Amino acid sequence: MRLLLTALLFLVPFKNLLAQADITEDEIKQHIEFLAAKENKGRYPGTAENRKVVNYLIEDFRKSGISKINSTYRQPFKAKLKVKKGVLDTPVVKTWNVIGVIEGSDPQLKREYIVLGAHCDHIGMGGPSSKKKDTVAIHPGADDNASGTAALLEIGEKLSANRNQLKRSIIIIAFGAEEQGLLGSKYFTSHPTVPLESIKLMMNMDMVGRLNEKREIYMGGAGTFNSGMELMKGLGAECNLNPIVHAGEVGGSDHVSFYKKNISVLGLHTGGHPQYHTPEDVISLINIKGEKQVCEYIYKAIVHMANVSNPISFINQN
Ligand SMILES: [Zn+2]
Repeated sequence: MRLLLTALLFLVPFKNLLAQADITEDEIKQHIEFLAAKENKGRYPGTAENRKVVNYLIEDFRKSGISKINSTYRQPFKAKLKVKKGVLDTPVVKTWNVIGVIEGSDPQLKREYIVLGAHCDHIGMGGPSSKKKDTVAIHPGADDNASGTAALLEIGEKLSANRNQLKRSIIIIAFGAEEQGLLGSKYFTSHPTVPLESIKLMMNMDMVGRLNEKREIYMGGAGTFNSGMELMKGLGAECNLNPIVHAGEVGGSDHVSFYKKNISVLGLHTGGHPQYHTPEDVISLINIKGEKQVCEYIYKAIVHMANVSNPISFINQN
């Protein structure tokens, strides 16, 4: 009996550790609450709030045991900001990609990478990218793309905790300045921190927080890698989702920068809505439970791709 009690005392803290590494609705919600908070003023590149968000992401990477590359999580770059038509003064600001790596366990395959990405910036107080033209108001971007950033942190945490089940390595990237013209991903693909040819697949999440009643997760690019279509359709049932899978239709977000370098890509989202790029893209409209399902779906796809024995090859869809 005493032995049993002693054993239980040892097991309890481990159980808690394991629970934290899981994808949870609570953590998804907490991340979106922070990112889309008024205090972060729409996560505009080059602001003090941008810096605060970057620090938050780095702290979370560290807690999850995601490693640095070349002894840093930060990849700084200069971003030229979009301005209204006719404005001649185009400001250039300093901003960052936040990058971490989860090393695979196979001595050979760990030199190949799968990138999971999401942009962490938004359009600040509005401006030329806002659908409400002359409104000056915080655009919280709860779906675009606090949702994708939260998914990135949660999936990254779980991958890191289960790294012994991954043959290939995973790179986790929160891109900066996507809304200014995919600037963070363009910078990364022209200044990659691992050889570009070792990146075999890039999966991007941009607006994954509004899963609808039909539970449809949309994606483009599934035909850019071998057996991508079958995989992404097949995982739907396991996760109680209805995947709408396109072979091509590579467009709209940071995965485009990788596709242009002949890298296989998958761009995932839960669909557009009237609140897109308005001050009304708020957390109360996020389907947290649905986002957890989406995270589990993407997690399973990554684990599968990290372990496939066949080479992952690029298939052009143009
Ligand atoms: Zn976006």
